[in-house]
Amino acid sequence: MPVTSPPRAWAEIDLGAIKHNLNLVRQVAKGEFYMPVVKAGAYGHGLEQVCRALDTEGISFFGVANVGEARRISQAGCRTCPYILGPAFPDEREEIVLNGWRSFISTIEEAEHYNSIASLYHKTLPLHISVDTGMGRGGFLPDQLEALFSRLSHLDSLYIEGLGAHLPCADEDRELTYRHIANFEAMAARIREKFPLKFCHLANSAASLDYEIPSNNLCRPGLVLYGISPIESDIAAELRPAMALYSRLTVVRTLPSGHGISYGSTYITKEPTKVATVGIGYADGYQRALAGKGTRVVVNGVSCPLLGRVTMDQIIIDVSQLPDARPGMIAEVFGPHIPVTELADNAGTIPWEILTGVGPRVPRFYTH
Ligand SMILES: *Cc1c(COP(=O)(O)O)cnc(C)c1O
Repeated sequence: MPVTSPPRAWAEIDLGAIKHNLNLVRQVAKGEFYMPVVKAGAYGHGLEQVCRALDTEGISFFGVANVGEARRISQAGCRTCPYILGPAFPDEREEIVLNGWRSFISTIEEAEHYNSIASLYHKTLPLHISVDTGMGRGGFLPDQLEALFSRLSHLDSLYIEGLGAHLPCADEDRELTYRHIANFEAMAARIREKFPLKFCHLANSAASLDYEIPSNNLCRPGLVLYGISPIESDIAAELRPAMALYSRLTVVRTLPSGHGISYGSTYITKEPTKVATVGIGYADGYQRALAGKGTRVVVNGVSCPLLGRVTMDQIIIDVSQLPDARPGMIAEVFGPHIPVTELADNAGTIPWEILTGVGPRVPRFYTH
């Protein structure tokens, strides 16, 4: 019988938690329609698994980054239509039209190209208009709308189904965000005079939890679905983080006082120190920036400080407080004891980057 060893580092993913979090967002946001954002492999949680879990939860779209992710969702047998959140390259548009995926226009040239493809295949293509209310990443500006309207009146194979924009500061600056919302409302009113917009969408996680956006009827929550709130909110305590990351101790030994630890010898033991190596490193997404910031892993409920630099495949921790430390013991990297936000703060980054950074070498195990 072939022998398969257990992994050195792995992620445990609770799909039931993601459904629970979606339902919590629904209670607070009270949007009519939902687009769970599953780009970047569902923020590292596994695109197919998460989409299969959410497909029958009464949602309108899956928010993906590109056609590759849209294709994978279709191939996974999901019925929910992928909405491609990033602008499409010209040579991706035919696939989008033929599959009936949703995309948006940010320029008149895109509208013209989509129209010519749709008319070639005798289709009427539903499209969304993207407007720039302050994000500066794409979308029509207010003074470009008249030209768009007059051009669209000649593009018979397009049907404007929705309007979308993205908020850059909803988790950082309320006042500025309300100005962006006002811009959105003004443009939504002008567009609605021409097209009966079924979907209006501006709200990411932070905005779904905390802002009044009169026109918004389609929420696009991302981070909050995975159990992390980007802002303080009433539901923060009820959210269930969906991913936990673990590894195991490999070698346990005692180093003498004055001994360097890891590359650059940035850490020197101050006394004889019991240390353990752990089988995770920056190639798994455990960032080098975590070193020297008071970062810890938890073994048997005990916090063990990270010592010295993170290497590609291993880290070294202080297990002095763990009398029975031995190889094979499980080390929590983040999860029930260590919030992702703590690691993000230590690494000088954001929880989105920690989650999406968990590498392909880390197998994912699922519970429902
Ligand atoms: C990623 C993304 C979201 C989700 O953002 P969160 O802050 O994770 O909720 C929503 N809308 C767009 C356009 C995005 O690119």
